[in-house]
Amino acid sequence: MRFINLHTHHIAMDHSLFVLNYRIGHDKVIDNTHLFSVGLHPWDIDQNNDLFLSKLEQFLTHPNCIAIGECGIDKLITTPIEIQKKVFEQHLQLAINYNKPLIIHCVKAFDELIEICKPYHNRTSLIVHGFNKSENLAKQLIDKGFYLSLHHNLLLKPDFNIQSLPLDKLFFETDDNAHLLIEEVYKDFALKLNMELDALKTQINRNFETLFL
Ligand SMILES: [Zn+2]
Repeated sequence: MRFINLHTHHIAMDHSLFVLNYRIGHDKVIDNTHLFSVGLHPWDIDQNNDLFLSKLEQFLTHPNCIAIGECGIDKLITTPIEIQKKVFEQHLQLAINYNKPLIIHCVKAFDELIEICKPYHNRTSLIVHGFNKSENLAKQLIDKGFYLSLHHNLLLKPDFNIQSLPLDKLFFETDDNAHLLIEEVYKDFALKLNMELDALKTQINRNFETLFL
């Protein structure tokens, strides 16, 4: 049984099962020999969006492409929110058309995210990646139908009770941190969850199979 890394920007040298994320319009090379996801990151939105999206679509039929994204809404950038929402909805539509889960980047726009995604939860799986906000927001998102891929820094929040979250809605990741091993992430979370490492691995593998296989 392998450690599953739901979202990373680096090829892992351990024996984990990882989903390499590609940013269309930003990453020069897309190496399709590993499992990957591909999306138009809100940071990369510009006047070439339609071109990017048609290029993106060419990757979606590749057998190693198991998810779409990361894509989403980010209120810390200057790109108008309406344009970001439009591009995000195009991803939601692609997720349905190609029957693939969506990996979501969301910064300071959770109300908008919840609203836009309402009609989609029963049609595809939506995963908020790098989740590092409050326990309340985590519960709210899960109640609405989202899955969460937790940020390692969540462990530093003393008032966040991770044990209160349903394990069948969770994933772990290393994102852009090339020095972090997914095994270490699991170990740290298992400790916080007061769980055996193997039990946690089993559960996350089950979640992965439910969504991706
Ligand atoms: Zn990322």
